[in-house]
Amino acid sequence: MAIFELPQLYRDVKAEAQAVAAEVAPFAAEADESSEVHGPTLAILRSSRLCELMVPSAYGGRFERVDPLAVCVAREVCMKASAHLDALLALQGIGSYAIAVGGSETQRRTWLPRVASGESLAALALTEPEAGSDLKAITTTLRPATPGGDEFLLSGNKSFISNAPSADLFTVLAREPAPEGDGEDSYSMVLVPADAPGVQVSPTPEIMAPHVLGEVEFRDVVLPADNRLGPAGKGFAHVFATLSVFRSSVAGAAVGLMEGALEVAARHAAERHQFGRPLVRLGSVANLLADSWVDLESSRLLAYRAADTARLDPATTLDYSSLAKLAATEAAGRVVDRCVQVMGRWGLIKGSRIEQYYRQARPMRLYEGASEVLRLGIANRLCRDILEQDMPGDAQD
Ligand SMILES: Cc1cc2nc3c(=O)[nH]c(=O)nc-3n(C[C@H](O)[C@H](O)[C@H](O)COP(=O)(O)OP(=O)(O)OC[C@H]3O[C@@H](n4cnc5c(N)ncnc54)[C@H](O)[C@@H]3O)c2cc1C
Repeated sequence: MAIFELPQLYRDVKAEAQAVAAEVAPFAAEADESSEVHGPTLAILRSSRLCELMVPSAYGGRFERVDPLAVCVAREVCMKASAHLDALLALQGIGSYAIAVGGSETQRRTWLPRVASGESLAALALTEPEAGSDLKAITTTLRPATPGGDEFLLSGNKSFISNAPSADLFTVLAREPAPEGDGEDSYSMVLVPADAPGVQVSPTPEIMAPHVLGEVEFRDVVLPADNRLGPAGKGFAHVFATLSVFRSSVAGAAVGLMEGALEVAARHAAERHQFGRPLVRLGSVANLLADSWVDLESSRLLAYRAADTARLDPATTLDYSSLAKLAATEAAGRVVDRCVQVMGRWGLIKGSRIEQYYRQARPMRLYEGASEVLRLGIANRLCRDILEQDMPGDAQD
């Protein structure tokens, strides 16, 4: 058996995603320029079974546990066809995973089957106007509504939240203040139905590659105590669990984007002639294409490796997911830039496929861990054991 061939299970997922992507393709250009959920794309996603990949089988999903390699492969195919389709699919997992790992049985049974069918749209709310990479600086607060009571009040503002204008549920990272004079604040995740009184969504300014985004205000939202996902202080554990499973899928999406861009550029380089020969026979253009193919294939290998590692043990694999996400999204930036170069003036035409890929690649280096922040974590992990041995204090940073 070939070692570097995807097993049949994943080739089947790929084929399934390809069928969905083919249905979306006729209006992908329109969907990808939309900052609101594109109805026909959502309808196709709902009528497919792809959202099942994002939920455990006990609650209507496909596999016993969410399989990061299946998610990675599905996103690779979806992103190549449509960034809008990819985001809709990805958010079903990213927005609901904290419920799968930390929710009560009632919450799981209430929400996850709806997420698996696509009936309910999920969103993950971490970022705030003043807290992006530095999530410990969040100010959204969860406090008991009355001393010793069994309800919470959630207050604060979240920013740049994917799916927010159409989401049915939010999983929200909040700070729980320590009781007066009693230790440090803790962080928890809470489940917030979008129709809870006090939840208000307003538009985020449109970004260069349109994306369904919203600013979310929680104004003294009353929540049953049960809506906290697990005990107090589990917030970052749920965030890391989500990232371990889904960060490698951003790498998968970047691989799909590179593949799409390179196909467009390769066709152009083969068909257009200058100086009496196809562009591809002009040395520098050949270099641009060859280097891009190397970036694509090496990113794909690392994405699959990270996703497979996360499949076997999601709890300990954030490092690999970070490596894969960093490598693939940075590579995607280089590849789309080279592809535009190969295409000359046709690479610049607004609304052309290559121009869309060029814009879509850019945000990927910022969300789900900006490249610089990932590098810090990766380098720290590389030296952690040595730091722990030699300089115990420094390993904590
Ligand atoms: C399309 C899109 C969708 C998004 N969807 C969501 C969502 O669904 N939910 C959600 O919660 N958020 C979402 N976000 C927000 C995203 O997670 C943040 O943009 C991201 O975490 C970076 O935060 P920031 O933009 O505030 O940048 P900052 O944290 O302000 O960083 C600015 C720059 O400084 C660098 N930097 C920051 N800290 C360090 C450091 N310690 N060392 C070195 N360099 C550093 C960064 O790498 C970056 O280059 C989305 C963003 C985008 C663009």
